[in-house]
Amino acid sequence: MKVEVAEHAGYCYGVERALKLAQEAVGKLPEPICTLGPIIHNPQVVGWLKDKGISSVDSLDSIDKGTIIIRSHGVDPTVKTAAKEKGLEVVDATCPFVKKAQHCGRKLVEEGYDPVIIGERNHPEVIGILAYAGGNAVVVETIDDAKRLHDFDKVGIVVQTTQPIENLKKVVNELIPKATEIKIFNTICNATVKRQIAARNLAKKTDVILVIGGKNSANTTRLAQICQDVNQRTYHIETASEIKKEWFDNTNIVGVTAGASTPSWIIDEVVSVVSDI
Ligand code: SF4
Repeated sequence: MKVEVAEHAGYCYGVERALKLAQEAVGKLPEPICTLGPIIHNPQVVGWLKDKGISSVDSLDSIDKGTIIIRSHGVDPTVKTAAKEKGLEVVDATCPFVKKAQHCGRKLVEEGYDPVIIGERNHPEVIGILAYAGGNAVVVETIDDAKRLHDFDKVGIVVQTTQPIENLKKVVNELIPKATEIKIFNTICNATVKRQIAARNLAKKTDVILVIGGKNSANTTRLAQICQDVNQRTYHIETASEIKKEWFDNTNIVGVTAGASTPSWIIDEVVSVVSDI
């Protein structure tokens, strides 16, 4: 069986940067060193960091001293202020592309637009952008949410970095008749788009496609959905241990792709296990 890895797969810039900042904190910044929520949505990497002395806390209430690392998804700015007021050292590992989306949210409000955030309502990144965009901002997940919106004078759109471009297009189409003026910040991250295009192309030309990454990772789950749309034999796995031999009956070529929070050592292990079947 031939195994082909997608042209763009695995760690993106923002994740690599966040992990680097976290590792640099060890031995230099006050302990305990904690991330506010898992630094990335990959349980294996979170476990690896724990071994290095970096644990994860769910809220600032769980840490009274030491260092708190803000992950690449970013946070509501009041969280950062509260951490500093508690006397914690703050390492802000918010991805610069997420920061851009946050600032676009704020800019829309300053310019008098009613902000609409396209993304997953409960995702930490969207919660952070929402805080920057102020109390009147609304979150739209689907075309049906957009249909329910009232008419606007000026509507401004900002997008969760991991959203598919198709969702942005559909929501914008729905809002055009509802507004006299629309401003769009396309804050979809290039890394996400590249991974999605490469995954779709690979899924089309392979018999089976494996999508590697945390089951709790929004961008990996979306990659799996994209692959599933064009290839029924799509399997979303976290590690090589989940691979089942029967998936590969009558198979000549297997595609492998991975979300932006998947480390290369897990990708390599999957490739090795599949190649041995
Ligand atoms: S996917 Fe893009 S926006 Fe998200 S962390 Fe990676 S580089 Fe940043």
